[in-house]
Amino acid sequence: MPIYEYQCGKCGQRFEVRQTIGEGSSGLSCPKCHAPNPERLFSSFSCPVSSNAGPSEASCPTCSTGICGLPPMG
Ligand SMILES: [Zn+2]
Repeated sequence: MPIYEYQCGKCGQRFEVRQTIGEGSSGLSCPKCHAPNPERLFSSFSCPVSSNAGPSEASCPTCSTGICGLPPMG
């Protein structure tokens, strides 16, 4: 069962929730301020961001940063 990371839109608190695939954020609330409908963060996205890569070459259609390793189209 995957773990999703959420961030509260009210206080900015980040927390992880273990959910089944396809389960939404309905019913979730911030553990800190109890605000409903936190924003899901894509912490395990397919394009990892490297800290030492510059944003100058944004030619990748997949991640728009050009550092995900996929060849740009066209
Ligand atoms: Zn909160």
